Amino acid sequence: MGFVPTMGALHAGHAALITSAKHHATWTAVSIFLNPKQFGATEDLSRYPADLDRDMNLCRSLGVDVVFAPAVEDLYPQGFQTTVDVTELSSRWEGSHRPGHFKGVCTVVAKLACLVGDCVLWMGRKDYQQWKVIERLVADLHLPARVQAHPIVRDAQGLALSSRNAYLSSDDYPRALSLVQGLRQAGHAFTKGERRHHELLSLAHTPLHDNKAKIDYAVIVDHENMTELASPLPERALLAIAAYIGETRLIDNMVLGEDPVP
Ligand code: AMP
Repeated sequence: MGFVPTMGALHAGHAALITSAKHHATWTAVSIFLNPKQFGATEDLSRYPADLDRDMNLCRSLGVDVVFAPAVEDLYPQGFQTTVDVTELSSRWEGSHRPGHFKGVCTVVAKLACLVGDCVLWMGRKDYQQWKVIERLVADLHLPARVQAHPIVRDAQGLALSSRNAYLSSDDYPRALSLVQGLRQAGHAFTKGERRHHELLSLAHTPLHDNKAKIDYAVIVDHENMTELASPLPERALLAIAAYIGETRLIDNMVLGEDPVP
């Protein structure tokens, strides 16, 4: 079973995961569940774009065998009180900027993995830290899954596809490209041999500043354990960015020395 957990509002990024899952498995399952536990009180749960009919049609056209789209009360019935927390890996970056987020993600993925059973669990590298957290979760709990990561799917301009891109106005869109521009600038410099942490980060920052993006974090970290690295950087390092374009929070990343410059 190839299994792709999603929150719905499916786009070509999800479709790529589903297509890969299908290619590597006999059966393909997709879950569509807007998990309230992974949203903070001030986050966008209530306005998150949802269209189950459209998602179902896409899944059908991709040849998905099973779509699991439970109601909130199905997964969290009255009295529900168990949480799963990958403590250390979840404490940094995305975890510290979105308190409780990974606890919500891990709780629901643990439940889904138990319900689905033996499977290849597909995660997108767009949510790089989430992928690493889920790898840890699966190993620590001996969940019957093998985690497989899919490269980031981008639009023609390089913007990483995201359900949240639907929030971007036509004025926001060019500004949103500043995330991938930051990755590009740092990526090209890294390819040419730049290994100074500060230099690479300031290259990544420049387009964000120029486009008045509000940076949540922009960091160069160990690509396995997400801890910060000092100069000179090793031959592989994760550059991860989270920034607001207007009200819209976007994330993007690349592994310097591994991913092609986007
Ligand atoms: P979401 O519905 O946002 O929770 O995403 C479901 C899965 O799709 C997660 O594993 C994401 O990392 C993955 N995903 C979303 N957008 C992309 C993208 N642009 N490229 C690759 N994977 C993605």
